[in-house]
Amino acid sequence: MLDFTTLPYVDDRFKAVRRETVQVRVGEALIGGNAPILVQSMTTTKPKDVDETVRQTLALAKAGCGLVRITTPTFADAAGLEDVMKRVRAAGCTVPVSADIHFQPKAAFEALKWVEKVRINPGNFVDTGILTLDQQTDKLFDEGKEKVAEAFTPFVQEAKRLGRAIRIGVNHGSLSARMIYRYGDTVEGMVESALEYLAVCEAEHFDQVVLSLKSSNPRVAIAAYRLLAARLKQENFKPYPFHVGVTEAGAGADGRLKSAAGIGALLLDGLADTIRVSLTEDPVAEVPVAQDLIEACELKADAPKFEVPVFKKDPYHYERRESSVVKIAGVEIGGSLPVKVGVKSDAASLTGERRGPEFALAGFDASAGANIVTFKDAMDVAGFAANSASVPAGSIFCYTGSDMVYGVRALASALAAADRKDPILLYAKIGSSDKDMLRVSADFGSLLTDGLGDAVVIDGYKGAKESVALAFDILQAAACRRSKTNFISCPGCGRTLYDIRTVLGKIKERFGHLQDISIAVMGCIVNGPGEMADADFGYVGGGPGRITLFEGKTAVKKNIPEENAIEELVNLLKEKGRWVEP
Ligand code: SF4
Repeated sequence: MLDFTTLPYVDDRFKAVRRETVQVRVGEALIGGNAPILVQSMTTTKPKDVDETVRQTLALAKAGCGLVRITTPTFADAAGLEDVMKRVRAAGCTVPVSADIHFQPKAAFEALKWVEKVRINPGNFVDTGILTLDQQTDKLFDEGKEKVAEAFTPFVQEAKRLGRAIRIGVNHGSLSARMIYRYGDTVEGMVESALEYLAVCEAEHFDQVVLSLKSSNPRVAIAAYRLLAARLKQENFKPYPFHVGVTEAGAGADGRLKSAAGIGALLLDGLADTIRVSLTEDPVAEVPVAQDLIEACELKADAPKFEVPVFKKDPYHYERRESSVVKIAGVEIGGSLPVKVGVKSDAASLTGERRGPEFALAGFDASAGANIVTFKDAMDVAGFAANSASVPAGSIFCYTGSDMVYGVRALASALAAADRKDPILLYAKIGSSDKDMLRVSADFGSLLTDGLGDAVVIDGYKGAKESVALAFDILQAAACRRSKTNFISCPGCGRTLYDIRTVLGKIKERFGHLQDISIAVMGCIVNGPGEMADADFGYVGGGPGRITLFEGKTAVKKNIPEENAIEELVNLLKEKGRWVEP
């Protein structure tokens, strides 16, 4: 097991600096090195639909997308990229294009001829899932390694010959049974999947490689990328750039918050070199969100230095920081209680409603009845680290300065060094812009993933009610606390078998009143079931005009006509006792 205290993923967890990486050229775009973080997106078409693929590619480039990815499900689609590229270039558009390949090594080879970059998925490039988990053995695991080298080496050689880049793109939902057999369904399995393919690239002295480890759970994605950075160092691989994303984030504000909680946290760790925000919306809508997120999470060269003991908390495996139970304005927080949401107001604003504020924070000073100790900068934190007895036990610790992620981490480290378990309040005073919303989700997402935070208060976002709603939504986005229906939905791509955006809207309308349930809406049966994470129920495209409904990972109603599918999902929930009339 990796020793995180001697092999950290960044040099300083209290002050992020962008990780130094190899620079990868993808046509006219550069990823990593000292290049700006590149925004990318994906068309929702197959290359065989040349007109629409070209139209979407041009629209994305015009919107500021620095790299366009195209689903390439078959060899014929890969061959179709030739026409797409001719038309895109004839239109005077120089945006680099990447082909997205699952299951089809032959299509990957063909795509190399026409586009600047090809993404392959180690979960299915060789390990096609023919063998189930219970059929795996140690011998097969080792033989599988040889098969990977055998199949992937010629592909790497061809990419090198043609001057193309490769993305080794692992998805949590499509880890091979072979990897799960060896490492479990874990971030270690995700990382080792990537490293196995990367070893083949290095054996061929090919370094034009970008790595990604995506998950629909921001907590998993954050841990996986951190562990990857650490393992690359440990195994003496070159520092390859990272393509960072959270899959199946959904749509609207929830999709943006979930993306920010995961991608934003990694931007704040200095680990992202190119990002894609996946939304179940028009792909063009992803571009400004990604741009805003990069801007909102820009690392400051003059960020303060926190002089505190080494932060020993494991960044690769989630565990909530142990804290004692303390009352804030008469309400208990900490211990194993859920992370509570407060409002910056007086007690009169407490309504007792679900998703209403659970405590009121009138102010920080003792006259407001609060036992909160605030730390406004690195000096305050260092002062506590030097003399922990200066703060009475049973206080609530709150960092209110700039660079919140590093400040709260530093505070937690100082508390740990003093063997103190006082709870931590995450407090953010923000404005009302989209960037403010994204940044606070990134800050809280990062800290909650570190297991830090016993209560949260957002102050100033539009109004008190909106601030409280935002806090609940971020807790849900960060996989920390569920307070409303959790919708997981893929962004749609060339494999999508129905009008996913319209259907998602209808499903949200029909099921949005359910409070403790997770529903996945996925475009295809090929990747959908694997990618829908831990959803309770799934609505998955089974074929043209056909939907397959899942309970967990099990298909329970197969290929039902699309026109009946939403009502069939209601019936399924009724059968399982999970339906409540609105
Ligand atoms: S689940 Fe299927 S349809 Fe949805 S984005 Fe993934 S491959 Fe495309």
